[in-house]
Amino acid sequence: MAKDKKSDLEKLGKKLLFKKKNGWDGLKKKDFDTVMALSEDYKKFLNSSKTERESIDTIAKLAKKFGFVDIKKAKKSDKKLFINYDGVAGSLVYVKDPKKFHEGFLMNGAHIDVPRIDLKQYPLYEDEDMAYMKTHYYGGIKKYQWVTRPLALHGVIILENGKTVKVNIGEKDTDPVFTINDLLPHLAQDQYKKTPGKVIEGEQLNILVGSIPYKFKHEKNAMKLAILDFLNKEYGIVEEDFVSAELQLVPAGNARDIGFDRSFVGSHGQDDRVCSFLGMKALFDIKEKDIKKNLMMIFFDKEEIGSAGNAGADSNIVERMVNDVLQLNGNKDYNVLIKALENSKLLSSDVNAGIDPAWKSVNEPMNAAKIGYGVCLTKFTGSGGKGGSNEAHAEFVAEIRKAFNKDGVLWQTTELGKVDQGGGGTIAKYLAAYGMDVVDCGTALLSMHAPFEVASKIDIYHTYKAYLAFFKYL
Ligand code: MN
Ligand code: MN
Repeated sequence: MAKDKKSDLEKLGKKLLFKKKNGWDGLKKKDFDTVMALSEDYKKFLNSSKTERESIDTIAKLAKKFGFVDIKKAKKSDKKLFINYDGVAGSLVYVKDPKKFHEGFLMNGAHIDVPRIDLKQYPLYEDEDMAYMKTHYYGGIKKYQWVTRPLALHGVIILENGKTVKVNIGEKDTDPVFTINDLLPHLAQDQYKKTPGKVIEGEQLNILVGSIPYKFKHEKNAMKLAILDFLNKEYGIVEEDFVSAELQLVPAGNARDIGFDRSFVGSHGQDDRVCSFLGMKALFDIKEKDIKKNLMMIFFDKEEIGSAGNAGADSNIVERMVNDVLQLNGNKDYNVLIKALENSKLLSSDVNAGIDPAWKSVNEPMNAAKIGYGVCLTKFTGSGGKGGSNEAHAEFVAEIRKAFNKDGVLWQTTELGKVDQGGGGTIAKYLAAYGMDVVDCGTALLSMHAPFEVASKIDIYHTYKAYLAFFKYL
């Protein structure tokens, strides 16, 4: 047999084997430019959307630009709708055919809350002649990652009269920032003996906010009062107003490119604003002729603390959103609402863990996400024997991969960690409770939940393509 001829085994392999592929391999210059341009837009979204409220504000602005009408002001004839749920959650809806609501929506659901550090409701105190604020972290963070770095303060204070005061300090170069201090290594002998979860304890996550006494007179409470005096002049608030505030500390500064070749995006909060942004963009970009069904992009709050509360997926928020759309179109039949939910198909769009060469042992490499190998399709999540998972039906996974393959989406099947290593959950199971088909699908990250998470630009691109293919072909 000639050397250049393929052997029978090679031929058989080509026919039968499932092959994962590196997304940069064979990429055309034109597509490379598209990949890079997409991440430029994505970074802008990250920079303007550091909290769930800011995310909804950004989405509302963009939605308006793309012709979506706030459902509160919408007419029956409006096809493109934006639903703002208390400024912390929401959805974008494309009504293709109101007569087919009972057939369900193609839904893409992501979350816009991110792991971070929240101020307590009674935060301000002074100690050792310095002013501090107490915090309570939100979501699954490694506390030791959050010390000795510049933090920005974002959020709202709602006054007793209902007026909203917006806060955003630490993002401009001229702004001050805040920080949580750590112990110097010279004196850390006892600290080193602690387990990682206790190296920095929850009640040590206090931010430094000042040290100049009121009118330069050193007295008890003079630093605390000087800070309150500043806040009163700047924002018109008194100490009691913190009680009705949502103030969040996030890493200060913008999203950045990583690497000599700029192939990664680095930023806080890519879980899950990467999927939120890409799902939104897919709905904005889809061509009219490609829309065959009623479409919906949903942005949830509170995923990082178990999808709780009235804006989290473990509530009837999606039912209320779908109902709002049905009501606008004059459909008051409860049976249609139930059928609409049951017959919907949902991509539970959330991030996955890419294999980190420094921590390979936590993964089973055949079924773990490889960075640069495309969007992750995750049939089940959970932990300890798939516990707590929505497992997508095989029929639905078949439909999904067919759609992805049709549009040349680079995808990989993924599992969060090897069996019994740990695990995690998403919004999937809460939506599956309505009877709809649900599968997890999103971008692989490195350093998930850290103050600086890493995503590959080629994976971001294929996640976008996947969301577009879902809306086009399901
Ligand atoms: Mn997530
Ligand atoms: Mn998360």
